[in-house]
Formats: sequence, structure tokens, C-alpha cells
Amino acid sequence: MYKKKVLQQKGFEIMSGFLGDKSKKTVHHLANMRPECDIYHIEMKDREYFTPDTIENAKSKGYKSCELCIS
Ligand SMILES: [Zn+2]
Repeated sequence: MYKKKVLQQKGFEIMSGFLGDKSKKTVHHLANMRPECDIYHIEMKDREYFTPDTIENAKSKGYKSCELCIS
């Protein structure tokens, strides 16, 4: 798991539970993500946060869950 400070420096909303990648239509769980998730390469314009911040909400918007960080 990444340190919160590193995430903040890279511009992520660390208070969010889930981060959507609009280009791949994949949702990641920030608290549980792995280096292999490669979220740092998601462009700023492709990052989506969810309200409410739940996996159900993400899926209802057409995202599929990342196999690495959401089981
Ligand atoms: Zn992931």
C-alpha cells in the first residue's frame, strides 16, 4: 500500500474509497490498491470519483471492478 503523503503529492483524493478510470472503465479501491493497478498512469481527466463513494455506485455507472484490488 502506498503512503497517503505520496498519494496526495500525486494529486489523488485520498479521502475517496474508490477511483474510476474512465478510459478503461475500471474502478479501483484506493485503500487496497497495488502497484500493479498502475493508477498513477490514469490521466487526471480520466479519473472519476463517486458520490456516494461505493462500489455499487461505480458499477451502476458501467465500471467493472479491478481484479487486483477489489475481490
Ligand atoms: Zn486496482
